[in-house]
Amino acid sequence: MKVMTDEELLAAILAHQRRRKVFQDEGLSHEEAYELADDLWDRDENGGEERVCFECRYLEGKKSCTKIRDSQGNPTNPDRFVLQRCDKFKLKGKNYVAVRVS
Ligand code: SF4
Repeated sequence: MKVMTDEELLAAILAHQRRRKVFQDEGLSHEEAYELADDLWDRDENGGEERVCFECRYLEGKKSCTKIRDSQGNPTNPDRFVLQRCDKFKLKGKNYVAVRVS
């Protein structure tokens, strides 16, 4: 396990807090939000490639995926609270910092 500097630890703690708030604001319980934020912490620490849709530029209005469309061409509603690999994922924001959930 990599040892974090004080600055990295503070950034990770702030990211955890910010993510929990986003997830709770979007409907998860406190416990669910905490668990998912923990998973993202582990992902960041281990350099994993899994993502949540909240980190993706194709998530519109925090609910619809504009990249993956249904048979009628309409945006789909992905499971935004699952840490997963998505072939269509594109990082949100040009100045994105890895620990952020935008
Ligand atoms: S492209 Fe993939 S990661 Fe991005 S919003 Fe759609 S389903 Fe989520």
